Amino acid sequence: MGGQPMFILSEDTERTRGEDAQTSNIQAGKAVAETVRTTLGPRGMDKMLVSDSGDVVITNDGATILEEMDIEHPAADMIVEVAATQEEEVGDGTTTASVLAGRLLAKAEDLLEDDVHPTTIVEGYHEASRLALDAIDEVTLDATLDDDLLEQVTESSMTGKGTGDIDAATLAETVVTAVKHAQTDDGVARDDITVRTQTGGGASATRLVEGVISEEEPVHAEMPRSVSDADVAVLDLDLDLQEANIDAEYNVTDVDQLEQAISAEEEELRSYAESVVDAGVDVAFVTGDIEDRVASILAKEGVLAVDSVSDDEATRITRTVGATTVGSVKDLEAEDLGSAETVRVETFGDEELAFIEGGANAETVTLFARGGTEHVTDELERALNDAIDVAIAALDEGGAVPGAGATEIAIADQIRSGTAAIEGRKQLAVEAFADAVDVLPRTLAENTGMDPIDALVDLRTTHESEGLAGLIAEGQTGHVGDPIEAGVLDPAAVKREAVESATEAATMIARIDDVISAN
Ligand code: ADP
Ligand code: MG
Repeated sequence: MGGQPMFILSEDTERTRGEDAQTSNIQAGKAVAETVRTTLGPRGMDKMLVSDSGDVVITNDGATILEEMDIEHPAADMIVEVAATQEEEVGDGTTTASVLAGRLLAKAEDLLEDDVHPTTIVEGYHEASRLALDAIDEVTLDATLDDDLLEQVTESSMTGKGTGDIDAATLAETVVTAVKHAQTDDGVARDDITVRTQTGGGASATRLVEGVISEEEPVHAEMPRSVSDADVAVLDLDLDLQEANIDAEYNVTDVDQLEQAISAEEEELRSYAESVVDAGVDVAFVTGDIEDRVASILAKEGVLAVDSVSDDEATRITRTVGATTVGSVKDLEAEDLGSAETVRVETFGDEELAFIEGGANAETVTLFARGGTEHVTDELERALNDAIDVAIAALDEGGAVPGAGATEIAIADQIRSGTAAIEGRKQLAVEAFADAVDVLPRTLAENTGMDPIDALVDLRTTHESEGLAGLIAEGQTGHVGDPIEAGVLDPAAVKREAVESATEAATMIARIDDVISAN
């Protein structure tokens, strides 16, 4: 070729290359990670996020903060993805993962300035991350995860979250009971655990419901509000006239015919109600509508009926009571019904909820979370969902490791002792990884109001001389101590995922030397 330059990009394409591309990507990634840094740990602060439309979210949860922020830079967006992946895979450790990714990027920037080639950085980071995973395996507690230990892991995930006026220990106990309830031979069935929030009352009114809660209320005021030993039907249909019938034009020529038409309608509606009653139904959950006249017959017969039940809710009710969903009321038979110890309607302000408890199968369990305002219940809901994931991760995915920065100190130590065996400049990258990991205990120290340098030195010395040591937060300050003794534990899976996803994001960003963006 030669001579004429060849244009392969349209004119309004923006292109940043080489070092410029790297620097701007790294800066963006670092900036995002820095935002969540102050929320790390039990003494971490909350963020208030205000959307364009003025909606306010107050949270301490890394994934939520990053998700709510309006981030446009593609490299910054990759850090947001780290948090999202972490949330999806293990449900906790989002701040840890994004702060680590940010620090890995900062260290990569230094290395690039020192003329270490991006490929060497990538190789070094991967090598270091393998050493980190080995270190995590080594500090994983051998002890079988009994309820006490599981409660400690769960509680550690909640300290510092806005859980209102209820203490984390009580919540942790409730969460562990819920998780144990949904435990099967194939692991915990996460879908069987629901968190349902309701404002009003303090967070201490939060409790465990062995079953499900339906958001809909009874369709008729005269229906019973509480039924025990209930035979429960789940109906995926309308208890209403077929549309074809309603729309049909009656060719009415005399009064007799009109009456006939009306009574035919009545007859049809009555037959629906009778099918339900005859099958022996005490309580019916219907996904469609229930016509007023059907509702009033059901009420007279003492049947509690709820309509407009969502599909998800219907499925959960089915699993709780052991019913078979029926799609046509004429097919309804006694054997399709499930059973519950109680179905009870409770009033909360101007809302009514139906509690279905003690079902025949009762595989499902609901954490009924209360709080004074919606901000409280929202944050409580996030904390509980994280806590459920944490307990499951510890139970099903490889146990617990000491928290409070102790595992991070062990990781950095393991990497540093491995560097001597690594040749060339790659060694610098491996060392840089260890330095990056230090950001986690350092941040915990900062957020606890301790001097970060002193704390880190103290931690390392204690780690050398006495073994595992962490920064135990206590009241307004913290001290160096044994996290296992203090009951500060994290799931091993959370740490593993954080190392893996942070490494992946940082190495991907460091490798980019050309940003081509269509405008
Ligand atoms: P993440 O989003 O990464 O889970 P958190 O704000 O939940 O961030 O903080 C998690 C860190 O806080 C973990 O390293 C955990 O070990 C630590 N931690 C939890 N409870 C305590 C405590 N009482 N003292 C010190 N550190 C704690
Ligand atoms: Mg957490």
